[in-house]
Amino acid sequence: MRCARTLRRLGHTGSIVLIADEPHLPYNRPPLSKEVLRDDVSLDLLDAEGAAWYERRGIELRVGTPATSVDRTARAVELVDGTTIRFDQLLLATGAAPRIPPIDGVERALTLRTVEDALALRAAVRPGSRVVIVGGGFIGVEVAASLAAIGAEVSVVELADRLWGGSLGPELSAWAARSLVAAGVTLSLGAAVTRIGEGTVAIGPEIIQADVVLLAVGVMPRDELARGAGLSCDDGIVTDAAHRTIDERIFAAGDVAMVAGLRVEHWHAAREGGERAAAAMLGERVADRRAPWIFSDFGERHLDVVGQSVGDERREVLSDPERGPGVVAWVGGGDRVVQMAATDGAVDVERARGLVESRATLTQAHRELFPRG
Ligand SMILES: Cc1cc2nc3c(=O)[nH]c(=O)nc-3n(C[C@H](O)[C@H](O)[C@H](O)COP(=O)(O)OP(=O)(O)OC[C@H]3O[C@@H](n4cnc5c(N)ncnc54)[C@H](O)[C@@H]3O)c2cc1C
Repeated sequence: MRCARTLRRLGHTGSIVLIADEPHLPYNRPPLSKEVLRDDVSLDLLDAEGAAWYERRGIELRVGTPATSVDRTARAVELVDGTTIRFDQLLLATGAAPRIPPIDGVERALTLRTVEDALALRAAVRPGSRVVIVGGGFIGVEVAASLAAIGAEVSVVELADRLWGGSLGPELSAWAARSLVAAGVTLSLGAAVTRIGEGTVAIGPEIIQADVVLLAVGVMPRDELARGAGLSCDDGIVTDAAHRTIDERIFAAGDVAMVAGLRVEHWHAAREGGERAAAAMLGERVADRRAPWIFSDFGERHLDVVGQSVGDERREVLSDPERGPGVVAWVGGGDRVVQMAATDGAVDVERARGLVESRATLTQAHRELFPRG
């Protein structure tokens, strides 16, 4: 949708067809783990734009019609209903699907990706329902807070000994854990669900009661179409920095795309990727790729993470999340800040993102973000 919008903005007058397997207008997924589970939003507000928006721009919608294959020689996409759509240029933005771990009884568990998944989860949970969430990553943490807010008894089981798989370090994990525990959520860190039974979950030798089990252990890129068409795939569809695959007429963006070696499965990357792919399709200058920006909301808490850690940097706590809005920086070679996380709006996120992009040193970042020391 972001690609289609940008194509029109940049003056493309040819046809644009948007093909989707879900029977909906393109919609925003972030509220599915937050407001939708708390009954806090009307569903039509999830839509990126209303139907009239597409009509006015001459963007043809083929929703509820999965594409089944891409014929690169004929430059055509085949749809499940037997129709064929020819293209001069094609964007693959097929997203990602929940990862299903090899746990005994996994078919009894729910997953969360679509609006139907969110409504099914919401319908299954009542005040007092015992919910077990397998995975304490972004989705697991958000859903835990949302379901606790409607009165469910929620347990989160996370393999790592910290939330978010340990990727954000101990300070932020402790900050989030405190908030979840205060909301009544039980955390089992460093633990694995080994079996999902009828109304029970086994965590090693321990058996706990569970009316609802949600799998939240990450996603897999939906690259089947690309693989079927012989495009290069690794952790997603491989593209260059301008989102072009090994076929110069085919582009990829969003959760499914591994752009210049990096796949980012978050909302801002999908938005910006669609926009950059549109520029590349039209031969316009493609803006530099922005540093990743992840946002997450759980209960009253808000987290932003900008940049990208490779895991071997030192972590510096610039302001302690335990004592109010906090900032943590990941500092690599040359004292450069490669990633920053801010809690509860501690800093202007765009400014922090700009600092990471300009390869600011820790001293520069500190001075910019906290001018009064
Ligand atoms: C519950 C939830 C909460 C989230 N919260 C946040 C958040 O707080 N912050 C954040 O930064 N990110 C969040 N995200 C991630 C964010 O929503 C994704 O990064 C974003 O949706 C990716 O957009 P996309 O267009 O690449 O893929 P998608 O949104 O997955 O869209 C891809 C579409 O392609 C369709 N498709 C796949 N195969 C075919 C085919 N063969 N034919 C036709 N259509 C096909 C899919 O059905 C889907 O509709 C959340 C995601 C979920 C699921």
